[in-house]
Amino acid sequence: MKFQKGKFLHILHTYANTFNNIPLSQIFEDERLNLATGKFEKVNEYKHYEYVTVIDNKGNIIYNNKTSGLPNEVHIPKNIEKLGEEKGLKVIIHNHPNKVPLPSHNDIYKAMTLRAENVVVTTNGKYNSLLINNDRFAIKDTALLNIKATEIQQRFLNLEKDMRNDFINTNHKYKGVDQKSSEFKQGIAKYYQKDENMLPYYNKFNESLPSNMELKLYNKKTNKYI
Ligand SMILES: [Zn+2]
Repeated sequence: MKFQKGKFLHILHTYANTFNNIPLSQIFEDERLNLATGKFEKVNEYKHYEYVTVIDNKGNIIYNNKTSGLPNEVHIPKNIEKLGEEKGLKVIIHNHPNKVPLPSHNDIYKAMTLRAENVVVTTNGKYNSLLINNDRFAIKDTALLNIKATEIQQRFLNLEKDMRNDFINTNHKYKGVDQKSSEFKQGIAKYYQKDENMLPYYNKFNESLPSNMELKLYNKKTNKYI
């Protein structure tokens, strides 16, 4: 199926224009974000590809791309990274085709080093997540920031490993199954669609963040942050 570029861009432009000049701390309490991310998720190819959109401090979309195949992840180009490192970014919005809404270890690293005020992770599962960086310029020195971000990234890497191990320990049939296989990915996605399975990790992820960062999980069934 072909990527509906026009439709997708329209959704994102609507998103950026609607929220221009409003502090993001307010926006994410706003129902309109839920509407925007909800539309974002309904793009047909959403289920199979990873998308990323970057919005600068003025509310302009400066990058918008998707994967075309495996590995199923997109990369932010060097010039956008440089802008983030120097001036910060307003929002990075992307989806997790695996339905696990928690930001990955790489998401955390990028949020910190590219000084993103917000990172929105959408899924076509039950949850979206929102990472808020309340003081993205708290560490001014880039080298120091990179060291700190690597440290936090490692914590998240360990949490992700814990998540997979806990999943295997409670679902024995996945023992020995290749963790990169679609069978394993589908199994773990299904498991973490339940509040009681997801919540302990959401709390651990939050505890592992620097004090100026906060993670919110949005339950799309109840239309509430949990
Ligand atoms: Zn991610």
